[in-house]
Amino acid sequence: MAGRGNPHISCAAAAIGASAFPFAPAFAAVSAVTADVTVVTGDGKKILLRAADVEDFRAGLRGQLLLPGATGYEDARKIFNGMFDRRPALIARCLGAADVVRAVRFARAYELLVAVRGGGHSLSGQSVCDDGLMIDLSLMRGVRVDPNERLTRAGGGALLGDIDRETLPFGLVTTTGTVSHTGAGGLMLGGGFGRVARRFGLTCDQLTSVDVVTADGQLLEASATENPDLFWAIRGGGGNFGIATSFEYRLHPFDGRAVGGHMVFPIEQARQALRGFGELFDRASDGLWIEPILTTTPGGGRALVMDVCLTEDLESADAILASYRRLEKPLKDTVGPVHYVQLQTQDDERARIGGRYYAKSGFVRQISDDLVDTMLEIIRSAPVPRARIALPPKGAAVDRVAPDATAFWHRDALYSVLLQASGDDAAEDAANVGWARSQWPALEKFTAGFYANTNLSEMPSARVRDAYGGNYERLLSLKRKYDPTNLFRLNANIDPKGVATEVG
Ligand SMILES: Cc1cc2nc3c(=O)[nH]c(=O)nc-3n(C[C@H](O)[C@H](O)[C@H](O)COP(=O)(O)OP(=O)(O)OC[C@H]3O[C@@H](n4cnc5c(N)ncnc54)[C@H](O)[C@@H]3O)c2cc1C
Repeated sequence: MAGRGNPHISCAAAAIGASAFPFAPAFAAVSAVTADVTVVTGDGKKILLRAADVEDFRAGLRGQLLLPGATGYEDARKIFNGMFDRRPALIARCLGAADVVRAVRFARAYELLVAVRGGGHSLSGQSVCDDGLMIDLSLMRGVRVDPNERLTRAGGGALLGDIDRETLPFGLVTTTGTVSHTGAGGLMLGGGFGRVARRFGLTCDQLTSVDVVTADGQLLEASATENPDLFWAIRGGGGNFGIATSFEYRLHPFDGRAVGGHMVFPIEQARQALRGFGELFDRASDGLWIEPILTTTPGGGRALVMDVCLTEDLESADAILASYRRLEKPLKDTVGPVHYVQLQTQDDERARIGGRYYAKSGFVRQISDDLVDTMLEIIRSAPVPRARIALPPKGAAVDRVAPDATAFWHRDALYSVLLQASGDDAAEDAANVGWARSQWPALEKFTAGFYANTNLSEMPSARVRDAYGGNYERLLSLKRKYDPTNLFRLNANIDPKGVATEVG
C-alpha cells in the first residue's frame, strides 16, 4: 500500500515492516544459550539440540528466544484458555517476517513440534505445546489503514480490537468476531464471523493479500494474482499452510453508529421466544445480527439472552426490532443506540483471559423445534455453575459466496450451536468437561459440519474432514504441496498422508 493515497500508520505499528522502525523492543537481555536443549519432534521423538545450534538460532533473531526459566517465559507460554498449562522447550517471540522465516527454518531442520501463537485464543490449546517450539506472533500487532484505498494491513498477531480501533476512526470497518481480545489471524484462517458478517461476508472474504511463511521457510505473498492456490487455501483452511505474518483486508464505509444491547427473556418463555426467533430471523435483513444464548445466571437461575446488533437502517430500528421484542415479554431490554466498538468489547470481561473453558460446536441450518427443546433440556439440567448454549448467526452475505470460492465450505449454515462450560478453578474442570462431553451428542445430531476454529481436537466424534466439507480433497492436495511433512500440525489438521484424522 505504501505510496498510495494518504495512509495512516498507527502508533502501534511497530511490527509491520518492522526493520524500517529504528527503535528496539524494551526486552530484558536474554542470555546466551550454553546448555544443550531437549526438544520433541512433530512425531513425538525426544532429541537433543546442541547448545551452539540453539544459540546461533537465538542470536539471529530480532525478537527473543525464551527457554524455561528465562524472564518472560512464564507469561509468554500462557494462552487465553487457562486449562492449558504447557511448557514449550523454546519460545521464539518474533518481531517480523524475518524472525518467522528463521524460526520455521530452524524447526524444519530438526523436524520440531511447532505451535503457532497468534492471539492465543484457540479453545483447544493448539497455540502452545509441551517440549516443542512455540512460534509466538503476539508482538506483531501493528495495524496500518489506507483510508483512500479502503484497505488495512494487520500483523500476524493483531487482535480484533486492534483492527476495529484503528479502522473505525476513519469511518471504515471489516468483519471481525465478537470478543476484542481474540486474534484476527487465527479467526481469519478458519473463516471468521461476527456482528457485520451478514453485511460484508466472513473475515476471510475480506482478505485481499497475505504474507505467508511456508514450511520450506520461504516468504510468499498470496493474493488473487500471486500464489492463488495458497490464497484460496488460507481463507478457511486453518493454520495448515504456513505462518501468516501480515494480512491485508478490505474495508467498508461504516460510521460506527449501531443499535444494540441485550434482550433478556425468562427461561419459562424461552421455548416460544426461540421458536419464534427462528422464523423471524430467517427473513432478517443483512444489517441485523442477533445471537440467542441460553445461559445460567449468577444466582443459579437460567435465562435466554438475545445479543443484538443492528448496523443498517437505524432510523427504522424500532420497527425492525418490534417483532423480536414481541416474541415474549423481555425481563430486561438494553437495546438502544450505541457505538459499535462498545458492542465489540462488551463481552471482553465475561470471556476472561486465563479463565478455564471447554466448548463444543457445530453448524446448524435452522432452529428446529426439536433443537430448541434439546437446548432447553440441557441448560435447565446443567449441574455446572457457568454453562451456555449459543447460536451465533451467519447467513446473508456469508451465504452469497460459493462454498468452493474459498476453503470455508459451510456457507449455508445460518447458525453454529456452541455448548460451553467454564470456570475459574482447576478443581471444576473435570465436572465441566464431563458435563459438556456428555451433553454434546444430543446437540451434535442437529449439526452438519464443524468450524475449523472451534475445539476440534476436543471433539472425539468429529472428523476433521467434516470441517472442510467438499473442499477437503483440494485442501489435501495443497497441503501436500505446501507442507508435505506436516510441520504445521497443531490446528484442525489436514494430514498430508490423507488419513481421515479421528481427533480427540
Ligand atoms: C473468547 C472467544 C471468542 C471467539 N469469538 C469468535 C467469533 O466471534 N467469531 C469467530 O469466527 N470465531 C470466534 N472465536 C474462535 C476463534 O476464531 C479461534 O479461537 C481462533 O483460532 C483464534 O485465533 P487466535 O489467533 O487468537 O488463536 P491462536 O490460539 O493464537 O491460534 C489458533 C490457531 O490458529 C493458528 N494461527 C493463529 N495465528 C496464525 C497466523 N498468523 N499464521 C498461521 N497460523 C496462525 C495457530 O497455529 C492455531 O492453530 C472465539 C474464540 C474465543 C476464545
